[in-house]
Amino acid sequence: MINFLNLKKINASYAEELKAASARVIDSGYYILGPEVRTFEQEFADFCGVKHCIGLASGLDALVLILRAWKLMGKLQDGDEVIIQANAYIACVLAITENNLKPVFVEPDEHSYNIDPAKIREAITAKTRVIMPVHLYGYLSPMPEIMDIARESNLLVLEDCSQSHGASLGDKRAGFWGDASAFSFYPSKNLGALADSGAATTNDEELETMLRALRNYGSKERYYNLYQGVNSRLSEMQAALLSVKLKYFWQEVDNRRSIAERYLAGIKNPLITLPQVDRTEQHTWHLFVVRCQQRDAFKAYLHENGIETIIHYPKPPYLQAAYPEMNHLSFPLNEQIHDEILSLSADPSLSDADVQHIIDTCNRFAG
Ligand SMILES: *Cc1c(COP(=O)(O)O)cnc(C)c1O
Repeated sequence: MINFLNLKKINASYAEELKAASARVIDSGYYILGPEVRTFEQEFADFCGVKHCIGLASGLDALVLILRAWKLMGKLQDGDEVIIQANAYIACVLAITENNLKPVFVEPDEHSYNIDPAKIREAITAKTRVIMPVHLYGYLSPMPEIMDIARESNLLVLEDCSQSHGASLGDKRAGFWGDASAFSFYPSKNLGALADSGAATTNDEELETMLRALRNYGSKERYYNLYQGVNSRLSEMQAALLSVKLKYFWQEVDNRRSIAERYLAGIKNPLITLPQVDRTEQHTWHLFVVRCQQRDAFKAYLHENGIETIIHYPKPPYLQAAYPEMNHLSFPLNEQIHDEILSLSADPSLSDADVQHIIDTCNRFAG
């Protein structure tokens, strides 16, 4: 079976450095908010082209705490609306509802599957305060247009970059554009730790200070609590491992890009729609998502031929059992996309023969 993502094989190529980094942390006797976290935060802020990075326990926490911080800063209040694409990941919606804000869904762009600026304009009301573009699959949303809309209507922009570390538009990367950005370093992301972890980035010093307090019980000074914070600290161990993974980040993305280029050139089957995006060279190919009207049969056929695939995601957030009050919503284009998408492996450790087997098998699919 060709695995969708062979993390064991990927991390084995850095095993010596990862083991040295963990040994350094074990030997240091310093495990929470120490030098490794500070170093990685600086490295990752530089990587994104922003001033501040705040290491957190997960990508979900990054989204939740940024919105919470904006509430505490008086920029948001209960019931304010957040515009988000209808094919967002559940974490995005959980972060909105947990803060007593209201998600306002819009149909995604048919080709990139990212948020569609024209749909944002239609969805703006007197209660809109935030636009949350989720850069899906490793491809940036049309940020110049989104930032223009935000400036015209005085809205905040929160980028969800959990699938798009390093993806760029022009020479500006994910995390650079918005007022704040959230990143996940879940092990399977393009920049993945070896446990849950995440980060927020921003150029806003007030937000930075607030997030540093919120992740640590709401305190700036130990045992003095300014806010009702949480415990959401990036660990020293994960920060040390992430610094190693960051060194090899572009090597892995280059492999993902050559795999994607081979798929784009080699898969020729009228039953399969390839990703339709410009700027494939600025895509980081976290996921290589194709569409097929007979998706379930296609997935089963690939499985029979030894190829593992995953659906990201089978069900939109507003149709989930967790949100009965949203289940009446309907976005026909989005639902069609959910029924037709399938992610092929873009595992940077795939062999040339594996890639060729996937291409040949796709081309033989007869429906
Ligand atoms: C993975 C992911 C998250 C959540 O990250 P966690 O670290 O698992 O909490 C949020 N948004 C998107 C788009 C993701 O892909």
